[in-house]
Amino acid sequence: MKASQFFISTLKEAPAEASLPSHKLMLRAGLIKANASGLYTWMPMGLRVLRKVENIVREEMNRAGAIELLMPVIQPADLWKESGRWDFYGDELLRIEDRHDNPFCFSPTCEEMITDIVRKEVNSYKQLPKNFYHINTKFRDERRPRFGVMRAREFVMKDAYSFHADFDSLKQTYQDMYDTYCRVFNRLGLQYRPVAADTGSIGGTGSHEFQVLADSGEDVIAYSDSSDYAANVELAQTLPLSGSRAEPTQTLTKVHTPNVKTIPQLVEFLNIPIEKTLKSIVVESENDGELVLLLLRGDHEFNDIKAEKLAGVKSPLTMAAPEWIMAQFGANGGSLGPVGFKGKVYADFATEKGTDWVIGANDDDFHYTGFHFGRDSAEPEFVDLRNVVAGDPSPCGSGSLKLARGIEVGHVFQLRDKYAKAMNATFLDNNGKSQIMEMGCYGIGVTRVVAAAIEQNHDEKGIIWTEAMSPFTVVIVPMNYKKSDDVKNAADQIYAELQAAGVDVLLDDRDERAGVLLNDSELLGIPHRIVIGDRALKEGNVEYANRRAGESENIAVSEIVNLIK
Ligand code: ATP
Ligand code: MG
Ligand code: MG
Ligand code: MG
Repeated sequence: MKASQFFISTLKEAPAEASLPSHKLMLRAGLIKANASGLYTWMPMGLRVLRKVENIVREEMNRAGAIELLMPVIQPADLWKESGRWDFYGDELLRIEDRHDNPFCFSPTCEEMITDIVRKEVNSYKQLPKNFYHINTKFRDERRPRFGVMRAREFVMKDAYSFHADFDSLKQTYQDMYDTYCRVFNRLGLQYRPVAADTGSIGGTGSHEFQVLADSGEDVIAYSDSSDYAANVELAQTLPLSGSRAEPTQTLTKVHTPNVKTIPQLVEFLNIPIEKTLKSIVVESENDGELVLLLLRGDHEFNDIKAEKLAGVKSPLTMAAPEWIMAQFGANGGSLGPVGFKGKVYADFATEKGTDWVIGANDDDFHYTGFHFGRDSAEPEFVDLRNVVAGDPSPCGSGSLKLARGIEVGHVFQLRDKYAKAMNATFLDNNGKSQIMEMGCYGIGVTRVVAAAIEQNHDEKGIIWTEAMSPFTVVIVPMNYKKSDDVKNAADQIYAELQAAGVDVLLDDRDERAGVLLNDSELLGIPHRIVIGDRALKEGNVEYANRRAGESENIAVSEIVNLIK
């Protein structure tokens, strides 16, 4: 590419509204232009970077057996009502109407759309598992769009959705995606850390985020100094101080227990924050004994955050909702369950309309023994990550905790049946019996990755790209291209040879002062630079500099192409 035929629009100073280095540098290097709050144009130079990131993501997704498709960004409200997220998602969901007054939203993520496709297309276990993905624009009406494309309103995400006949298959694909994300971020040359994470408005059970380590990051992660343990501290999860509770350790046995209305349904139904509204709990049962109050996050029963055992409970029991429940319940809600009781459970919710009793009756409800700490087996010990300070013992039992800041560039979730159940995505198993699919989802913030990479790789002169992401691999900077025939001939020849060798090369033939060309090459962060001037040429040399190493050296004209390709 010749600069004269391309579009370079660098700035000396960054606009005042930019505070982060990546935001300033992306504006100064002309990678992006701000159009409105949280809305950006990817300028030609920036788009080359974005496409490189996309291609690496696409190659690694394809390698992992994921299948690319392309779903619409404007999505009918009906699908979102089916999953319950039309109400639950809140103000980040941009709602729009067409000319017939039909409600739609601009997709912030695509669980509903893909579940709708899969429930219509897949009906047998023989078609499972499948993992579909696309790389497409998302819109989230962020409360505070900031830091350029790091927290934009419109952004590009790679989102993948896997469907399975059973949990084991989901766990396999989840692990494959986890490994794929490591390959992607390794290839991009990022310093990152996978961490245990909260499931946010996507929901589901287990999840991990991929955090690019940077002091400017909005997230705080806690990690052990002597093991792999790492978690996002926003994880409002109480973890046991010892032992792993992520997986059942024994064979699961079903026990018959009273049904308890799950609180997330109530949250969605009442649309009020639980922590302010749960007043008391009443248990009426046919037997006395042990009562375990089990608090679950999200709406899946295998994702508990705390259990408390009360011995010698006599029925009927009325108790104030315990402090720890009030402290733990977030807007995501959860469910509350007694074990070993046959009877009824009431939860008293104060709503704006007054007191509202929600009743769980004793029907064919089950849960498993051997799964939850504190319910059926070991005593739990807990640490609330939101309150940890550096030096606290690590919840994994090994070493002490350190804290670091990170930028969330990827997020993988085990959704289990959250969407499949609500939207009735079923298949026939090998006995011809209808079953609900298991589901996972996997996101990478493709546009955010570009900003995160710059946060980690820059100096006072500008961006320092890795070869994998750089808009060009090499820049040729001729001094006096327009006036010196020798310089022009050498530059044209090296340019042609590099192009023939398949190297992504930029020939900066703009009619600008040497200082401008040199400064721009550093601001743009292109890894290899070849400066061609009359003086060195007389000795058969050009000046080569590596952007990261800094130092420049004389290299023979005859060797420069071999050095780079
Ligand atoms: P955050 O915590 O930063 O708001 P999120 O947890 O809401 O992100 P997810 O729903 O997990 O985001 O979406 C998957 C990925 O999309 C994120 O890991 C992130 O890389 C990217 N992403 C999310 N919101 C934005 C945004 N406003 N601008 C740019 N990228 C975003
Ligand atoms: Mg968010
Ligand atoms: Mg997040
Ligand atoms: Mg996330």
